Amino acid sequence: MSAEKKSRTGKVIMVTGGSGLVGKAIERVSKEDQRPDETWVFLSSKDGDLRSKEETAALFEKYQPTHVIHLAAMVGGLFANLSHNLDFWRTNIKINDNVLQTAYETGVKKVVSCLSTCIFPDKTTYPIDETMIHNGPPHDSNFGYSYAKRSIDIQNRGYHAQYGCQFTAVIPTNVFGQWDNFNLQDGHVIPGLMHKVYQAKRDGTPLTIWGTGKPLRQFIYSYDLARLFVWVLREYEEIAPIILSVGEEDEVSIKECAEHVVEAFDFKGEVVYDTTKSDGQYKKTASNAKLRSYLPDFKFTPIKQALKETVAWFEANYDIARK
Ligand code: NAP
Ligand code: GDP
Repeated sequence: MSAEKKSRTGKVIMVTGGSGLVGKAIERVSKEDQRPDETWVFLSSKDGDLRSKEETAALFEKYQPTHVIHLAAMVGGLFANLSHNLDFWRTNIKINDNVLQTAYETGVKKVVSCLSTCIFPDKTTYPIDETMIHNGPPHDSNFGYSYAKRSIDIQNRGYHAQYGCQFTAVIPTNVFGQWDNFNLQDGHVIPGLMHKVYQAKRDGTPLTIWGTGKPLRQFIYSYDLARLFVWVLREYEEIAPIILSVGEEDEVSIKECAEHVVEAFDFKGEVVYDTTKSDGQYKKTASNAKLRSYLPDFKFTPIKQALKETVAWFEANYDIARK
């Protein structure tokens, strides 16, 4: 660790993947809830390619972080995962190993990485909780991403056991919000549906929902996730990960979710289902009991309001949105 970093009392918080859906929301929260002892740095892939150990080391050298929020990853929805399992594995393993090892080598005090509820075993009991990550194979559709993400938990335990590092992780459910990836092939279901409704409304064509609409999901608004992420960075002291999710009672079907998106756009056209497309995992219902034991009063934004805010952003920023 540099002498400058050892003597510094304030935190330098470096956010990898700071230009994406979750990173932009954390940037918003860091500005709304400013602390005098915190300096935030938000990175994109343009600042450096984290698949490269040299470029990763150069970023740590340049910014001298005391804390890291590690978001950078190859991320995609069901259909991107189905066709690119190997790329998801290789890319994410490299990025994660470079970031965690460099954080260790440079004496970073705390790292909070990001897992996902889609990495849990496919055959399981419900609700899923934090203790079940390694209990069995993940769903076939995203095995590459899942095993790469599970390895972060292995590394966090290893860095703590061998070197006493405070490296931990959060486990969010399916995230949506401003600055999402609205690409129809690569993205997740909510930005995909928003883009499709936008086009259907503009062109007077039907909205096509992929699959049967029956699968169940707990969605979290990126702004809510960001407020929780910042709390984890500042307050959470366990190495074991924590699920960041709305309650089990807030789980919705893809069909219900699509109906909310249709309502938010005030779309009046025809809605059809393409059942030749995969449904993916039927459900991954997660327990937020651990989160509630820490933050019993945390208020999630109601899903309809969060979807309306996201639709308003997408319509206003259609030209610059990732799509
Ligand atoms: P995102 O919008 O796709 O953002 C990905 C970020 O990673 C971008 O800032 C991107 O930089 C950066 N990045 C990608 N490859 C990189 C590389 N080789 N070197 C440096 N930076 C790189 O993803 P997100 O949805 O915000 O996801 C953030 C984290 O949350 C990820 O770890 C993801 O696994 C996790 N997560 C997401 C969801 C979800 O539903 N979205 C659910 C659970 C967990 P550029 O902008 O320059 O490309
Ligand atoms: P997952 O939650 O990790 O499975 O990933 P997604 O966010 O991609 O959600 C996939 C679920 O939404 C599956 O049941 C899909 O059949 C369904 N779905 C319906 N329409 C779309 C769409 O336009 N894009 C995506 N990605 N999924 C869709």
